[in-house]
Amino acid sequence: MRTAIYPGSFDPFTNGHLDVVQRASRLFDRVIVAVAKSDGKHPLFLLEERKALVEQSIRDMPNVEADTFDGLLVNYAQKHSAQAVLRGLRAVSDFEFEFQMALMNRKLNDSFETIFMMPKDTYTFLSSRIVKEIARLGGDVNQFVPDHVQAALATKLGLKKI
Ligand code: ADP
Repeated sequence: MRTAIYPGSFDPFTNGHLDVVQRASRLFDRVIVAVAKSDGKHPLFLLEERKALVEQSIRDMPNVEADTFDGLLVNYAQKHSAQAVLRGLRAVSDFEFEFQMALMNRKLNDSFETIFMMPKDTYTFLSSRIVKEIARLGGDVNQFVPDHVQAALATKLGLKKI
């Protein structure tokens, strides 16, 4: 059983995240999308809301599940006997931080492996931060996030009632 953990804030889950999960679900027996509490980032959505949005997005992938976590990723990965942790690489700008994290995590646990996945080229510009910014300014985020995430953004930002 090969398990991969895909950690992130997912505030909210985007089509870029979905693209990474779909690719990973074909490579691993089990993929856990682990939503980090990320209090320090002052997320727009509550932890349980972010998890629920992930859950709806992965419904048609039987080997993918959603969970929440707080604390050290190396401990979470060990607890779930995961072989790898997945991170998405969009551009060179992601590289420096991700490289540092991957090596630091390996210092904390020697058997920790980070696997980087590149999304479809159309998603390389996409980030949760940009999606929130566009939605906040009244722009259409339809092509960037699943429908239920778009609806949740509109509700959260008070743009419309669903
Ligand atoms: P974090 O706060 O941990 O960076 P994010 O939710 O922003 O969490 O991202 C989780 C992971 O998904 C990160 O590895 C990030 O690089 C990756 N990611 C985010 N957006 C995309 C995208 N459009 N395409 C591919 N990977 C992405």
